[in-house]
Amino acid sequence: MDNLLDLNCNELTEYIKKFGHKPYRAKQLLKWIYHFGERDFSKMTDLAITFRESLKEMASVEIPAIELDHLSSDGTRKWLLDMGTKNGIETVFIPEKNRGTLCISSQVGCALECTFCSTGRQGFNRNLTSAEIIGQLWLANNKLREQENYKLLKSDERLITNVVMMGMGEPLANYKHVVHALEMMLDDAVYGLSRRKVTLSTSGLVPAIDKLSLDCPVSLAISLHASNNELRDEIVPINKKYPLDKLMSSCIRYIERAPRDFVTFEYVMLDGINDSAEQAKELIKLIKDVPSKLNLIPFNPFPKSGYKCSKRSVINSFQEILMDAGIVTTIRKTRGDDIDAACGQLAGQVQDKTKRTQRLQFI
Ligand code: SAH
Ligand code: SF4
Repeated sequence: MDNLLDLNCNELTEYIKKFGHKPYRAKQLLKWIYHFGERDFSKMTDLAITFRESLKEMASVEIPAIELDHLSSDGTRKWLLDMGTKNGIETVFIPEKNRGTLCISSQVGCALECTFCSTGRQGFNRNLTSAEIIGQLWLANNKLREQENYKLLKSDERLITNVVMMGMGEPLANYKHVVHALEMMLDDAVYGLSRRKVTLSTSGLVPAIDKLSLDCPVSLAISLHASNNELRDEIVPINKKYPLDKLMSSCIRYIERAPRDFVTFEYVMLDGINDSAEQAKELIKLIKDVPSKLNLIPFNPFPKSGYKCSKRSVINSFQEILMDAGIVTTIRKTRGDDIDAACGQLAGQVQDKTKRTQRLQFI
C-alpha cells in the first residue's frame, strides 16, 4: 500500500495518472485528506466511485498511532506517537490568543548530543519520513477538532496557524524529508501555511542552512546557547565542525532570501554556565551585525541533566544588558509544564537506538 501522505501535489498527480485518473482529481483528493481530515476513501463523496475503489486497492492514508494524549491545564496538548520498535516522538500544540502553534519532531532522537537536551541524551534512532512529519499536522488538526472547545469550528477556520520544528531531532540532519514536508505545509492544496509562520530551528548545520535558503526559505531559529566557541564546543558539540564565525555568516546569507528580515537566536539559560554579565556582553559583540532577535529560554530540567536553570533575577538582568545594547530580547514563557511538554522535555522514547543506554520511558 502506498501512503498518500508521502506525496506532494505534483507527485500525487503523477501517481493517479499512472492509474488513468485525471490530474484535477489530485487536488480534490488533497482537499479531502488535508482540509476535511478524511482518510476513508469511501466517504469522499464527490469522487467517482471507480476512482474511490481503485484508491482503496492501491493506497492508504497512514498516520502514526497515538500512544499518549495529554491536555494541560493551560490548553497545551501533547501527543506521544508510536514510531514502531518501541520508539516514540512528540508533537505539542500551544494555543495563544491569536494563534495556534504546533511544535513537531523531525527525527526519532537526535545524534548531536547537546549536553542540556534530553533528546540529545537519548541518542539517535532514525529519521522520520515526510509522511510522518506531515502526519503530525494531520493528526493534531483532526484531534483538536474533536476537542470540546474547538468542536464548533468550521472546516475552513484554522486552528494551527504556526508550525515550529522544535520538537525531537535536528531537522537539517533529515534534510530531504523535512524540506519535502515543509513544501507541503506551504502548499495551498495541503495546509497553505505562510512561510513566515513556519520556523525551522537548527543547532547550526551551516551547509544545510545555505541549501535551505535556496530550496525552501522559511523562518529560521538558531540554537546559539553560548557566546564563544570554547563554551559552545562543549554544550553544542556540532560547533566544533561549524564554529561561530561560520554560523554567523551563514545567518547573514540566509536573511537575504528569508521570509523575515531577521533570524531568531535561542539561548537556553543555564545557571553558572552561560548566564554571566560578561557573557551577555560577549553575546552582544557576537550577534550585533546579524539582524536578529534573541529568545532566552529558561532551562527545563530533566532527570540527571546536571544543570540548573538560571535564577529569574539573573535572566532578567541578562535580558536588560542585551536590551540596552539595542537587541530585541524576549524571555520564553514556559507552557504545558504539568504535562512535560516544555522545551527539551520532549522526551518521547528512544529504546531501540544505536547509541547510549535507555533513559526515558513513555512519560
Ligand atoms: N535540534 C533543533 C530543534 C529541536 S530543539 C535545535 O537544536 O535547534 C528546540 C529548542 O529547544 C532548541 O533551541 C534547543 O536547544 C532547546 N532545548 C533543548 N533542551 C532544552 C532544555 N532542557 N531546556 C530548554 N530548552 C531546551
Ligand atoms: Fe539535537 Fe537540538 Fe537537542 Fe541539540 S538541542 S541534541 S540538536 S534536538
